[in-house]
Amino acid sequence: MRATILYGAGDVRIENVPDPRLIEPTDALLTVSRACICGSDLWPYKLMTPSEPPRRMGHEAIGVIEAVGSDVRTLKVGHVVVMPFAFSDGTCAFCHEGLHTSCTRGGFFGTVEVPGAQAEALRIPLADGTLFALPVAEDGALMASLLTLSDVMGTGHHAARAAKVGRGKSVAVIGDGAVGLCGVIAARRLGAEQIIILGNHPDRTALAKEFGATDVVSERGEAAIERVRALTGGHGVHSVLECVGTEEAMRTAIGIARAGGAIGRVGVPHYQAIPDSEPAFYNNLTISGGPAPVRAYIEELLPDVLEGRIEPGRVFDRAISLDAVPDGYRAMNEREAIKVMVKP
Ligand SMILES: [Zn+2]
Repeated sequence: MRATILYGAGDVRIENVPDPRLIEPTDALLTVSRACICGSDLWPYKLMTPSEPPRRMGHEAIGVIEAVGSDVRTLKVGHVVVMPFAFSDGTCAFCHEGLHTSCTRGGFFGTVEVPGAQAEALRIPLADGTLFALPVAEDGALMASLLTLSDVMGTGHHAARAAKVGRGKSVAVIGDGAVGLCGVIAARRLGAEQIIILGNHPDRTALAKEFGATDVVSERGEAAIERVRALTGGHGVHSVLECVGTEEAMRTAIGIARAGGAIGRVGVPHYQAIPDSEPAFYNNLTISGGPAPVRAYIEELLPDVLEGRIEPGRVFDRAISLDAVPDGYRAMNEREAIKVMVKP
């Protein structure tokens, strides 16, 4: 079968690899119906060094179960499932607490150790705990939105939860990528009154407004902080969703959070220490967040997707075949596409 392999910065290839097979009795084999390229894939796409081992990329998918191991209890061949970006057993203490990304037996797809989903098929470890069976057919009109439940919609929701978004609150979302846009959906869904999107791509901030953003701030750095404060009576926002992962984004988040406010960070941090600890301290800020336990959120978000109350699938503005994946990386990296769907 064919799969996506990252060899180094800017070097993505589609290659023939051995077909996946069941190894553990708790495994399932998934034929990929839809996968996608993630903003977080762009970090190794930009920074990977030739000394790092090649990686089979992709951690988001919808697919059909092709085979199950002898210990798989809940899934059957033919089930259409969402694959969260992390695998988890669903039974350990952390899974019971809804923090599946800290599963004691879990891990992440698309790493050096575990092949990813930008491929025709893949092996799913701990299938019962990991996969979520969907009540829809494989080629339904909802596929794009359902696919976002594997990562970006769940991650935007996690940012909103970590930032304590609630009814009547003021919210700022830093980042106009797919996660930031889903963060806008999540903030609206949780009842936020004012939602400020910080981003400078007009097509993306326009979509953010359709998703419920009330204000757009296209400035950066100090100017962005001033603008958000001006929009919030000088105090800043109750909740900040930090969906970028740079030190500058965190500095902005701390600068625009209202005293007593909370920051939910879901952008993979590419800096060592959280900056501006003194203002964060004097303003009693909560800084929370991390990899989203999207497996825990599918049940909550699914009815809204199925009944059309939210349409996170609109973040996909390009659909490509597996052979075009290298160009898909380029397009996302050059901000030509918001998020690219892959139909293997
Ligand atoms: Zn677990």
